[in-house]
Amino acid sequence: MTAPRIAVSGVVRDWHGAPRAGVNAAYVSAVAGAGGIPVILSQLIGIGVAARALEGCEGLLLTGGEDVDPTHYGEDPSPALGSVDRDRDRFELALFAAARAARLPVLGICRGIQLINVALGGTLYQDLPSERPGAIDHDPDSPRHARTHHVRLAPGSRAAHALGVERLVPNSFHHQAVKDLAPALIATGWSDDGVIEAVDGRPEDAWLLAVQWHPEEMHVDVTAPERGLFSALVEEARKRLVNAEVPERALDAGAAGKEDAVAQPVERAAQRGESLRRGA
Ligand code: MN
Repeated sequence: MTAPRIAVSGVVRDWHGAPRAGVNAAYVSAVAGAGGIPVILSQLIGIGVAARALEGCEGLLLTGGEDVDPTHYGEDPSPALGSVDRDRDRFELALFAAARAARLPVLGICRGIQLINVALGGTLYQDLPSERPGAIDHDPDSPRHARTHHVRLAPGSRAAHALGVERLVPNSFHHQAVKDLAPALIATGWSDDGVIEAVDGRPEDAWLLAVQWHPEEMHVDVTAPERGLFSALVEEARKRLVNAEVPERALDAGAAGKEDAVAQPVERAAQRGESLRRGA
């Protein structure tokens, strides 16, 4: 079975005295562990080739990191705003636009849910403690994999389906969050203080799921429900490979006079309700 390629948005950080391009290893391990091939796309390649870079991939993972520049949603920066990276903002907005145009499946994590919401016209809390004080500390001083507050998921949602539960206690280290939800998104997960922790895309749009917590930090635990998020992304991406490959096999075998041999994969794809052309 061919492994789908999952574009992973990277970061540029200073490390040992020089700027380096990469991403937290947990994202790479989580995608690979789910059967995908992670392809790290760096903002250094520029927004002009974002769409071209995605042509070689069947899915997109938007990762965590800096605060999104509030000018993207028409607000002045709060004094509590964290560090921003405008080049990364622009690159990821271009990646997301290209993914949406190509109907690629998209998984957003932490900054990813925020960037998706902003890209689709929503706004953010720039700083939860000062703008929306509540009983829950969303950025406690605890290990990255520590499960610290409850999240309830909407029954029947993509999030609940992928995670296989309707209530869980994920990790939490974020000081921003979705404020006004973009019209093209559906809130599907909330912490007990009402902060949006998961969103689905609309059913008629390409597969999109995003969470405010960091499921990649749980991937080493084989029992963690969070592994289901990466499996769901990879399975959605794999559908695009199946759709693209079936016509080619049909043509090859048909030319050799082996129609019976190709009828089965074509029929199986049809039984799954998949268009043979959609992913081409
Ligand atoms: Mn949280």
